[in-house]
Amino acid sequence: MFSNKSGVLAIVVAALLPTCFAGWLVWDSLRGPGAGGEPQRVLPLPSVSASGSASARTDDANGTAAAGTPTASALPLAGKVVVLDPGHNPTDHEHTAEINRLVDIGTGRKACDTTGTATKAGYAEAAFTLDVVHRARALLTARGATVKLTHDTGGPAFGPCIDERARIGNEAGADAAVSVHADGSAAGDRGFHVILPASVHQGIADTRAIVAPSRRLGTAMKRHFADATGSAPANYLAGGTGLISRSDLGGLNLTTVPKVFIECGNMRDPNDAAELTDPAWRQSAAEGIADGITAFLRGKT
Ligand code: ZN
Repeated sequence: MFSNKSGVLAIVVAALLPTCFAGWLVWDSLRGPGAGGEPQRVLPLPSVSASGSASARTDDANGTAAAGTPTASALPLAGKVVVLDPGHNPTDHEHTAEINRLVDIGTGRKACDTTGTATKAGYAEAAFTLDVVHRARALLTARGATVKLTHDTGGPAFGPCIDERARIGNEAGADAAVSVHADGSAAGDRGFHVILPASVHQGIADTRAIVAPSRRLGTAMKRHFADATGSAPANYLAGGTGLISRSDLGGLNLTTVPKVFIECGNMRDPNDAAELTDPAWRQSAAEGIADGITAFLRGKT
């Protein structure tokens, strides 16, 4: 009875898997607003394709999986390393002496870290960034990426310093690194923006090799973040383009891997703050970030 049953299973799996994979490709290339829940549809792949004889049929069906490792190669970000950097630290404010220490960023010296901003009601940027990064990590891990955080809940009491945040991405050999923030601009200033590394070759900073790939990453990030959240590019800088290059951020000056910052919204604007404090919106933000990284790593920018 088991041989019969597994024969049926193999047929079903063989029929379903190409559909799932094709479905992901369609999602990947045509994804638009409202398609936020679709990435999870790839989740059944690992458990299903691991079921013995079905694997061989899967390999034959899509032609991409290596014999014996269909699961890993079926995931779109298999083999990719992503470093996510939650801006600030929830307990930075208890360590002002430590975070005010100046560190070398090539173009000058800057504070090791800053406390970040907060909404008028007191929701801290450092709590926001950790929450969004956790959500993005889950999405990227499900797509096969190896995800490393620069710090996490229960980690260091302050920082890491901005130079260390860059170093973590560099030493991980990250294929992409993203620093997540929310802005503290005036009420009425709304929307998100992506910060790209300017071309800097000064002191210990040399971004020349990563300016172009970082721009591709940032461009993909802008498009997917807008699609996932429905947010518009910031109305208060960069001419409304949502993309700005800066040479005054240690986390960008010192990176040797493709990296961008995303300022997800303005915590000091009541309308943006309503979104930033909404867990469902933060899930959309994480999806936008994960989709931007995914598009970049798959060369679809
Ligand atoms: Zn920040």
